[in-house]
Amino acid sequence: MVEPRLATVLNVNDDDASRYLVSRLLSLAGYNVLEAATGMGALLMAQQHHPDVVILDVKLPDISGYEVCERLRANPQTAAMAVLHTSATFVTSDKKVRGLDGGADAYLTQPFEGAELIATVKSLLRLRHAEQVARNRANELAEMDRRKDEFLAMLGHELRNPLAAIMTAIGILERRPTSDDKEARMRGIIQRQTNHLARLVDDLLDVSRITRDKVELRPGTVDLVPLLRQVLQIAQPMADSRGLGLDVSLPSGPLWLRADATRLEQVFTNLLDNAIKYTDAGGVHLHVELEGVGGSAQAVVRVKDSGIGIPPEVLPHIFELFAQADTSLERSRGGLGIGLTLVRKLIQLHGGEVTARSNGPGHGSEFVVKLPLDPTMGESAPARDAVDLRRGRRVLVVEDNSDARQAMRDLLELWGHQVAVAPDGLQGVALAVAQPPELALVDIGLPGLDGYQVAQTLRAQVGNHIRLVAMTGYGSPEGRDQALRAGFDRHLVKPVKPDELNRLLSEL
Ligand code: ADP
Repeated sequence: MVEPRLATVLNVNDDDASRYLVSRLLSLAGYNVLEAATGMGALLMAQQHHPDVVILDVKLPDISGYEVCERLRANPQTAAMAVLHTSATFVTSDKKVRGLDGGADAYLTQPFEGAELIATVKSLLRLRHAEQVARNRANELAEMDRRKDEFLAMLGHELRNPLAAIMTAIGILERRPTSDDKEARMRGIIQRQTNHLARLVDDLLDVSRITRDKVELRPGTVDLVPLLRQVLQIAQPMADSRGLGLDVSLPSGPLWLRADATRLEQVFTNLLDNAIKYTDAGGVHLHVELEGVGGSAQAVVRVKDSGIGIPPEVLPHIFELFAQADTSLERSRGGLGIGLTLVRKLIQLHGGEVTARSNGPGHGSEFVVKLPLDPTMGESAPARDAVDLRRGRRVLVVEDNSDARQAMRDLLELWGHQVAVAPDGLQGVALAVAQPPELALVDIGLPGLDGYQVAQTLRAQVGNHIRLVAMTGYGSPEGRDQALRAGFDRHLVKPVKPDELNRLLSEL
C-alpha cells in the first residue's frame, strides 16, 4: 500500500477557489500535491511528474476532463494513473457513465465532503497498488516462462549430441555379427531405449518450438492414404506385441492434401501410439473417409480404441501442454504429455482440427482429425499425378547388412518399385552395368569396393543418367562432401527414415 506521503496527486481545476480547497485537503492528509488549471497543462504535468492519482474536473477551459482522461489512458507512460473525475455542478448519470467508460476510476460530484474525497483517493491508491503488484508478478512469471522455454530448447540440443554418438555406435555394433543370444538381446535393449530417448528429445525440441511459435511446415502435395499405410506399418508390431487388434479401413482412392508429410506422419504416429499405449485389451480402429464436396471436402481420420478412456474432467484439457490423465507416481506408460499438444498445433497449422471423445474411464477413446483436401487437385489431376508419383522405378540397393538390405527391399517393393539387391560393391557394379537401374542406393561401408568406389565406377561405366544415393552411418559434412565428389547425387544418413527416402525418391 502506498503511504500518503509517498503518493503524488495532480489536482486539475480551472476554478482557483475549488482547486485551492481540494489541494489543501490533500496536503493536510499528507499527499504531495501538484496543480494544473487546463487540460493541456494537466497532460504535461502527468507526463513529467508521473502522479499516482489525477483529480480531474470535467469542465476545463481548453479540452474537457473526459478527453484528458482518454489521452492519459492512450499513452503507455500515463495509462496506469488513477483518474478521479470531479464536477462542480450537478451531472446526469449518463455523463458519469461517459467519464467512467472513458477510463476514469471514480466520479465525485460537488458538493462533496473532504473526508469523502480523501477516502476515494485512498481507495484508488489501494487499487492501483494491487494492480501494480499483479502486473509485476505477471511480468516475473512471463520472464520465468521465457527462461524455461530457452532452457528446454538448450537441453534438447545438448542431449542430441551424446544421443547421436550413441546411435552411431549402435549402428556400428549392429554390423558386427554375433552368435551370442545374450549380447543380441542387450543390443536390442540399447537400441530400443536409445530410440525411445531420441523420441523424447525430439518431443522436447518440438515443445520448445511450439511455445516459441516456431513450428514451421514444409508443405507439398501428399496422398494421405499411403502415408497412413506407412504409419500403420510401424504401429503394427507394437499392437502385436501388446496383443491388440489393429483394424483399418482406408478409402480406395487417393486423398490429396497440401501438407508436410513428415509432420502428418508424426501426428498419426502419435495418435496410434497413444491408442495402443493406453489400451490393455481389445483393439484399435483406424477409419478414414472423405467428407463434403468441392472446396469444403475434407479427409476425416478416426483413431478409436477400447482402452482406459479419458475422465470427463480431463477431456477438455487433453490437448494442453503437459496434460496427463494419469498423474500417479507409478505412471507406467511414460511420456511427457507433449504429443497431443503437438498433434493439435500441427493439425491447426494444416488448417484442420482435431477433437477427442471418450465415454469415461474404461470406455475407450476416439480422436478425430479433419484435414481440408487440396482444392487444386481436381478430379482428373490426381489420377495423372498419382501415376507419376507412384510410378514404379527400377532401384538397385547395394548393402552388405542382410537385414538392412531385406528391409529396404521390402519397403521399396511396398511402394511399387522394382528392386534389385547386391551384398557388396563388386556385385552391385556388375548388376548395374548389366541392367542399369534408374536409381541406386549405395551403402558406403561395403567390403571390397566401398561405396565411393562404386559411385565412381558407375559414373564411368553407366554414365550420368543413373541417380546415385549414398547411405552412411555418419552425418558429418565431410562425409557428405566426399560422397558428392565421388559422384553421388544425394547423401542419406542412417538410419534412413522411410518418409525421408520416399520424399527423396519423388524428387530424384
Ligand atoms: P503422453 O502420452 O506422452 O503422456 P500425450 O500428449 O500424447 O502425452 O497424451 C496426454 C495424455 O492424454 C496422456 O498422458 C493420457 O493420459 C491421455 N491420452 C492420450 N491418448 C489417450 C488414449 N488413446 N486413451 C486414453 N488416454 C489417452
